[in-house]
Amino acid sequence: MAETADILIIGAGVAGLGAAYNLAGDADVIVLEACEAPCTQTSGRSAAVYLTTYGPKGVIDLSIQSGPFYRDPPDGFGETPLLTPRGELHLDDQNGEMLGPKVAAGEIEEVSIDEALQMVPILKREGLAMAAFDGAAEDIDVDLVTGGFLRGMKASGGRLVVNARVESLSRENGVWRAITPAGDFEAPIVINAAGAWASPVAALAGALPIHVEPRRRSAAIIPAPAGHDVRKWPLFFGAGETWYARPTGGALMVSSAEAIQVEPHDIQIDKYDEILAGGLYRYEQRVTTPITKVDGPWAGLRSFAPDREPVVGFDPQVEGFFWLAGQGGYGFQTAPALSKLAAELVKGATPAGLGVDLSPTRFAAG
Ligand SMILES: Cc1cc2nc3c(=O)[nH]c(=O)nc-3n(C[C@H](O)[C@H](O)[C@H](O)COP(=O)(O)OP(=O)(O)OC[C@H]3O[C@@H](n4cnc5c(N)ncnc54)[C@H](O)[C@@H]3O)c2cc1C
Repeated sequence: MAETADILIIGAGVAGLGAAYNLAGDADVIVLEACEAPCTQTSGRSAAVYLTTYGPKGVIDLSIQSGPFYRDPPDGFGETPLLTPRGELHLDDQNGEMLGPKVAAGEIEEVSIDEALQMVPILKREGLAMAAFDGAAEDIDVDLVTGGFLRGMKASGGRLVVNARVESLSRENGVWRAITPAGDFEAPIVINAAGAWASPVAALAGALPIHVEPRRRSAAIIPAPAGHDVRKWPLFFGAGETWYARPTGGALMVSSAEAIQVEPHDIQIDKYDEILAGGLYRYEQRVTTPITKVDGPWAGLRSFAPDREPVVGFDPQVEGFFWLAGQGGYGFQTAPALSKLAAELVKGATPAGLGVDLSPTRFAAG
């Protein structure tokens, strides 16, 4: 006997939970998650930054539209603010060749080397050609966001089933049947919010073969340099964005900022991982204080459609199959607006356009 619903959502990351939060009041929703807990994959591994100038046009629009929700969430969503000020400092070792064009275009404001060193006192002055600051970057309390989506979804009657990897999808008489180790589930609509696994899940349904490409990015926590309180430091990017460091809980998260294409998998690394080590080395070359310890290294998969914009909408090839994928490195900064857009499209509304085609149909041949 299959459990039935109006909508099955595959994946309990920020995308699937956000969609469930927005749909559960109007429909019977079941979220199916392969792992033993929600947000185990990419949504549990992000840098948690909100920046409305980062990404392609559709992402930027969705990020701006997410601001009101983040600044003034519904009552009971979270007890503390979802956003807190952070700021981003960008560094250039190449005579301003890297930052100069961005400064000239007004995307980012140049600051003096002295000001940069005041913001992050461990930076080496030597070799630092230019610095620029973007005060708009904010920290997102990602646990509060995903926890709020989950609680809200459950309060409206939605259900989460874990250890429920969807192994097959078939459709008969207008109803999808998903087979998982946790049982079988049926609904007329399936939402593909499977993150790095979006393409294989689409293949199960015979949907459009859109290549949503997983790319790994790694990070680790290092102790705050001795004698420094890092909590008010901005996030700081190395030249060419080949590493970045961000204060977190009184320590620093350092990322090697790579975007290396991989197969979808539960990526696990240790502190000896060569790519991470390369990023930590590049960080160490730019600062005056050595890394004394490397804790909790991790990597996650940021997944990109060919044009780097999200894919949201019903598949043109198979009925009742909805895409909510390709959030890349922007899944949190876009989550409130993207999940609301997804819910409106699922319910058959025609939301005001973003001026960018985000539908899966843009990848259909001819
Ligand atoms: C190092 C790093 C830094 C980042 N920094 C930022 C940032 O600063 N700001 C920002 O906005 N974004 C950032 N991101 C990106 C952001 O984390 C992602 O865009 C977002 O988490 C993607 O969410 P998702 O729900 O699509 O994917 P996921 O969180 O991966 O969720 C997909 C879920 O689907 C499940 N699943 C897959 N296949 C199946 C199946 N067959 N059956 C059932 N379940 C299945 C998976 O187990 C997974 O839990 C960063 C990412 C990384 C890795």
